[in-house]
Amino acid sequence: MTKFSDLNLNPKVLKAIEEAGYETPTPIQAGAIPPALEGKDVLGIAQTGTGKTASFTLPMITMLARGRARARMPRSLVLCPTRELAAQVAANFDTYTKHLNLTKALLIGGVSFGEQDKLIDKGVDVLIATPGRLIDHFERGKLILSDVKIMVVDEADRMLDMGFIPDIERIFQMTPFTRQTLFFSATMAPEIERITNTFLSAPVRIEVARQATTGENITQGVLMFKASRKDREATEKRNILRALIDAEGDKCTNAIIFCNRKMDVDTVSKSLKKHGYDAAPIHGDLDQSQRTKTLDGFRSGTLRFLVASDVAARGLDVPAVSHVFNFDVPSHAEDYVHRIGRTGRAGRDGKAIMICVPRDEKNLEDVERLVQREIPRLDNPLGGSAPAAPQATTKPEAPEAEAPKPDKPKRTRSRSRKKDDAPQQDAKPNTAPAKPKPEEAPQKVAEQEAPKEKPAEDKPQQNRRGGRGRNDNRSDDANRQNRGDNNRNHNDNKVVGLGDHTPEFIGLSFAERRD
Ligand code: AMP
Repeated sequence: MTKFSDLNLNPKVLKAIEEAGYETPTPIQAGAIPPALEGKDVLGIAQTGTGKTASFTLPMITMLARGRARARMPRSLVLCPTRELAAQVAANFDTYTKHLNLTKALLIGGVSFGEQDKLIDKGVDVLIATPGRLIDHFERGKLILSDVKIMVVDEADRMLDMGFIPDIERIFQMTPFTRQTLFFSATMAPEIERITNTFLSAPVRIEVARQATTGENITQGVLMFKASRKDREATEKRNILRALIDAEGDKCTNAIIFCNRKMDVDTVSKSLKKHGYDAAPIHGDLDQSQRTKTLDGFRSGTLRFLVASDVAARGLDVPAVSHVFNFDVPSHAEDYVHRIGRTGRAGRDGKAIMICVPRDEKNLEDVERLVQREIPRLDNPLGGSAPAAPQATTKPEAPEAEAPKPDKPKRTRSRSRKKDDAPQQDAKPNTAPAKPKPEEAPQKVAEQEAPKEKPAEDKPQQNRRGGRGRNDNRSDDANRQNRGDNNRNHNDNKVVGLGDHTPEFIGLSFAERRD
């Protein structure tokens, strides 16, 4: 088995690794560090949780330990899709460089330019940035990239999802042709393949885990749920969520609750709080200081429930998350793997529980095809086939905000957005459509066809120059636009009522439940 001491890392880096408690390199580290130290380009196909951050940071800082940065001319560049991921990489960098005299700057949106300018002016060895903010600094003439010797692209597949590929191509072109590139992606969509063929030179390819694997140490379950009435679906789903949390009891020490839409992140978080659960939201529309405060609280254990969008929580490394709740089935099957990968980390057991309404059954099929297993069906913790619904006199919580609206005709979108969407299709994993194993027969629920919910229409950010928004805040919006459009059903304008179907709960007595 490879040891860290076999890898030719700087002794001061080895000391920091030992102090971090790492004993042996992970497969991606054992595979990527030697060629990176030889100056070769590396193409790492690995998900978060595999130790990929150290696999590029450790060789990078070993190589940078010699030499010094000049003002405004960083010697290396790490590009991350989200602010949170960039901040996490910066924290890792601090851990591993604690015995070295290297400087860094973190360039992310939502933070004033002034402080970032000061750091750049002094000269930094490592620049860790989101693409939009980096280009903004470059265009303001504050940054010279001609001294970049090593460039890292982290989570390229997420960059693709978020429409950052044109920015990445631009940044590649802004750096010297002779730079060394370390490129990481969980999947290899054709668009990613194209970029690597264009900008990497004879890369050493290291693949450590299949994209569709979900940890064996994560217990999974899905609750098939149909609301008593369409306009009560959101409220009843929140009732169900609380019941699912309660059913886990003390085993649920903390949890990330994923929603597909930012609007739901806010609503679910507010609702949980109102019912006495310690919850806070995180998504791209919240200001950076609030996002940081929330994450710090969750990491330190003072906040129990983090209600999150995919983008905001992507790649987050909180070692002890006991549960993940999927309030919605993700509309991108691959996100399921990323979401549930937030629990069961560092060898711990984890549990991932999802709610699936009839509208999401198609997405559930996609998830099961991707993970090549059937996710066991859970019993409704509230009993029966439907949860206790508010009595007719009870005013549903903000129904106008959440009642699904019939879909509008498809909008024509800009060329650039469409361009971003095209590879989005390709980003779908090309796993062979394997039949899920019949470990447990799926509950066949005879459902009426419900109208597809229209994805939230948040305004895309306009940038200052009136062009395509490049503020990092855009990320969630772009993401949703991409994803939402993939899932629209444009033939579902009709409103579907109960018809001849009488839900079972009508015959039951139940306590009134207000959300
Ligand atoms: P990453 O995939 O980079 O997000 O890393 C996932 C987690 O694994 C982080 O908490 C790292 O601190 C941790 N980690 C990385 N490398 C090692 C290692 N060789 N041994 C133990 N833990 C590690």
